[in-house]
Amino acid sequence: MKALVIDDSRVMRRIVGTILKDVGFEVIEAGDGQEALMRLEQHPDVRLCCIDWNMPVMNGYEFIVAARSKPEYRDITLMMITTEGEQDQIVRALAAGAHEYVIKPFTADVIIDKLDYLGLLDQEVTV
Ligand SMILES: [Mg+2]
Repeated sequence: MKALVIDDSRVMRRIVGTILKDVGFEVIEAGDGQEALMRLEQHPDVRLCCIDWNMPVMNGYEFIVAARSKPEYRDITLMMITTEGEQDQIVRALAAGAHEYVIKPFTADVIIDKLDYLGLLDQEVTV
């Protein structure tokens, strides 16, 4: 299964990407929402996006709105991973079409639990 990790921090992309690779995902990366939309065009088989909120050019919220406006992306699971823990921002992201919301700092277990809940874990992988 292919995942797109969208974060302007290279370190965060590496951390999230490693967690996803460890549970069997093929990982591609983007540094902002606009680059992420390009990656989705190049990789129509992406099944999961992990999305930072604060990014230059196009932030995570704007990316979710843009992705949700395209019917061809309706099967992609959108998971926000961000420091923005304000209740109203969580509500906004979920209303715009995010499926899950992870607050930084997080542990691998938190992400893996959510992937499991979303039915995105390969049954072969032992958590
Ligand atoms: Mg950021």
